[in-house]
Amino acid sequence: MVQQSKNYAYHSDRIEKLNNNLLELNSSLDQKVKERTVQLSQLNKRLEIQAKTDALTGAFNRRALNSEIQRQFNETAQQHNAVLAFAMLDVDYFKTYNDYYGHLKGDEILQHLVQVIQSNLPEHAYLARYGGEEFAIILRNMPVVVVEKSLQHLLQIIREYQFEHLSRTDHKQYVTVSIGVAYMDRNHPYPDIHELMKAADQQLYLAKNAGRDQLRM
Ligand code: GH3
Ligand code: MG
Ligand code: MG
Repeated sequence: MVQQSKNYAYHSDRIEKLNNNLLELNSSLDQKVKERTVQLSQLNKRLEIQAKTDALTGAFNRRALNSEIQRQFNETAQQHNAVLAFAMLDVDYFKTYNDYYGHLKGDEILQHLVQVIQSNLPEHAYLARYGGEEFAIILRNMPVVVVEKSLQHLLQIIREYQFEHLSRTDHKQYVTVSIGVAYMDRNHPYPDIHELMKAADQQLYLAKNAGRDQLRM
């Protein structure tokens, strides 16, 4: 009888210890699951940003631009007084830059230009690499004169940096860009984003033909 009680006490004690161990394991598993969930959501956020970013320059990429321009276009079309400016910016004589200085230096110029553009655009401007040495800028709800002034200012800032470019076929010896802008408001509607972008591209073409290093809108 005494032995039985002793056995019982011994087993109860063991069961309690095992139970406590199990509780500890459970709570450490809970903690691990929480940590992993936080890590996963951080990783997801990083991947989301990566999927929208151009690897070379850090600007938004073409994919991100496509959805952003569509979103802003829809909003502009729905609001009575909204305005939307879409600018295409293209580096002048960039092929000869690469030929003369090499592709790596060309890459560096693209990176420098994005930094300069990024830090000299109005606060809510959206900058994306359209492809190659072409960039797109979206400016929302700014009067047309302010858009023009901001982009002219940008051209001037880029000139003033005097990034050397000795292999141009004109008289200048530094990097410049050309900009074409299309502007949409209720008096200047566009049927879709493709027409808006095409209009900006046509203006860019005019800026190139008129001697580059300038803006057309
Ligand atoms: P334009 O003044 O008419 O714009 O002349 P351009 O020489 O700039 O234009 P073109 O379209 O003939 O050449 C564009 C060049 O941009 C060709 C290509 O080698 C270069 N390029 C495109 N993407 C990159 C890139 O990621 N890195 C570097 N280094 N060069 C690039
Ligand atoms: Mg080009
Ligand atoms: Mg070019």
